[in-house]
Amino acid sequence: MILLGPPGAGKGTQAEVLSKHFDIPTISTGAMIRAEIRAESPLGLSAKKLIEEGQLVNDEVILGMLKERLKAPDCKNGFILDGVPRTIAQAEAIKGFADIDCAVSIDLADEVIVERLSGRRECAKCGATFHMIFNPSAKGEICDKCGAELTQRSDDMPETIRKRLDVYHKQTEPLIDFYTKEGLLKTIDGANDIGKITEDIIKAVEVTA
Ligand code: ADP
Ligand code: ZN
Repeated sequence: MILLGPPGAGKGTQAEVLSKHFDIPTISTGAMIRAEIRAESPLGLSAKKLIEEGQLVNDEVILGMLKERLKAPDCKNGFILDGVPRTIAQAEAIKGFADIDCAVSIDLADEVIVERLSGRRECAKCGATFHMIFNPSAKGEICDKCGAELTQRSDDMPETIRKRLDVYHKQTEPLIDFYTKEGLLKTIDGANDIGKITEDIIKAVEVTA
């Protein structure tokens, strides 16, 4: 399954729940890259500037990471792609090495996104996503899944959010057309609460299966 949608639509939040529900892993190339940045690896260092400017990391790097990750045994019963593909070129390439059953597009207006992303907090250790108002950790500024400190992503600053929305509309939104033509697209209203969105996605996916 692919989760599509603008930054802040709720892909990461839903991926976490769906992953448990279907007992399949979530693959977030964004989380993988943020981990590389924290580890200060060569890949991380080269990606850091791009990410802080709201730009995409180049297709070859993303596709290489994804292809390797999909070879792991935990992917054999299925997987959720969160935040990848981000370009038509990536979507075309993925067709060559992965079987996609459906692409779920979580739809949300730009104005709501800025509000969502400015309240987003992420666990520095396990990557769990929270929201100060809409999905707070029971322990405040500490992750209630692993106990590590919650941080704000450097790309969740207002100017960067606008840049990311721009990049989304230009480079990623065309994927909605792409997956419609492939006959795989399901559109979900991202303005609902987290639990309702999960139900809607599960219903949409079960029709496919
Ligand atoms: P994405 O992975 O699409 O960028 P996230 O899942 O990180 O988006 O969600 C962005 C922010 O909005 C997070 O802080 C998350 O906790 C919050 N959020 C996610 N879904 C909802 C929702 N349905 N209603 C309110 N807030 C939400
Ligand atoms: Zn954690």
